[in-house]
Formats: sequence, structure tokens, C-alpha cells
Amino acid sequence: MKKLIDLIETYQDYPKKGIEFKDVLGIIQEPMIFKELILKMSSSQIIKNAEAIISIDARGFIFGSAISMQASKPMIVARKPGKLPGELYKKKYSLEYGENSLTIQKKALQRYNSYAIVDDLLATGGTVNCVSKLLQSNNKEVLGLLVVVELSKLGGRSKLDFPTESSICFWKINCVLFGLQIISINYKLFRERFNCLRWLKWLNFSSF
Ligand code: AMP
Repeated sequence: MKKLIDLIETYQDYPKKGIEFKDVLGIIQEPMIFKELILKMSSSQIIKNAEAIISIDARGFIFGSAISMQASKPMIVARKPGKLPGELYKKKYSLEYGENSLTIQKKALQRYNSYAIVDDLLATGGTVNCVSKLLQSNNKEVLGLLVVVELSKLGGRSKLDFPTESSICFWKINCVLFGLQIISINYKLFRERFNCLRWLKWLNFSSF
């Protein structure tokens, strides 16, 4: 049976060179795994304690709305410019691959006091930070963040002053590879030095 991690495809150099894009859309093609993920995310204490969910444009809507239905919590949205009608709050932010801004409908935000943020992926944390600043500057409480994927090498979590829960974290593989690399470099150095010592010993010995 397929696992959640098997459904996340990696695209190198998309949408820009140097970016390792994690495509989570495969998850919604496997309803049983999607359901299991939503049940797990919905049972989070962050969701339980929040009055409402705020999900982020656009893949955040997929997970946010499913959690909202499962947990019976209202959901509002943070959208890219030009997508929402009415009076809006707006804030700029930097992305792993560029710059953008997000907007929230004033009317929707005013209805609730505490929020759980939901998105598909946490990279540098710029997007979530932008949403949390928008909420906090309007005296709203941010109880935490839920994401499906976390790219922990980009350090997003450390920029946030509230708890973060991710279902899949890509730090372990990188750390293991990095650790193996260090062991192999040290081993090579040790071997070179050991060979050198053997030669020195041999030279000393032969000079007697
Ligand atoms: P960041 O603000 O850097 O944490 O970026 C998070 C937002 O950008 C999320 O809404 C993601 O959908 C998107 N994103 C950033 N980097 C990636 C990536 N490597 N793969 C997939 N989506 C990404």
C-alpha cells in the first residue's frame, strides 16, 4: 500500500532554478490516504483550541477546507491580490522563489478571535509569518500552524512564535546524508594520515 510520502513528488528547478518543488497534489488522488491525513490533522490540539481556521492560497485551501469540515470549525482564507472582493487587509512577504502579497477580507477576520493557520508546505516561513502578522496586528490570537510538508533545512519553524505541526518533514534525510558525508571525509583523512605515519615509521626504522 502507498504511504503519504510516496504521494509527494519532487520537481527539481521548478518554478525557478535551485528550487526543489514538492508537489502534494498526488495526495488528493488517493482518497483513503487523504482521509487519514485529514483525520490526523483535524485531531490536533491546535485545531481543537482554535475558534477558526485560516488557510493559505491555494493548496492550503484543499487541506484547510477538509479539516474545517471534519473538525466543524469555520474557515476564512488568505488570498493573493485581486482574488477577494470587499474591504481587505493586505501585506507583502518574501517567498523561497520571489515576492508576493496576501489579502484577507476584513469582515471575515473580524468574526473570530483565535486562529489555526493551515497550508500545504512550510519552507522559509515568509508566507505564514505574513498571515500571522496580519492576524496579530488586528489583535487576533494565532494558536499554531499545521502543514502537510515541512522543509526544515529552510528554517521556517524558527521564525514562528507559535507551535508548528507537520505530517512530513524533509530534514531527516538531509541530516543523515550530511552525517554520512562527514564520516566518509573523516575516514579518508584518517586513512591518509595513517598511511603517512606508516611511511614515517618505516623511514625511521630504516635509518638505524
Ligand atoms: P515559505 O513562505 O517560503 O514558507 O513558502 C511556503 C509557501 O510557498 C507555501 O504556500 C507553498 O505552497 C509554497 N512553496 C514554497 N516553497 C515550496 C516548495 N519547495 N515546494 C512546494 N511549494 C513551495
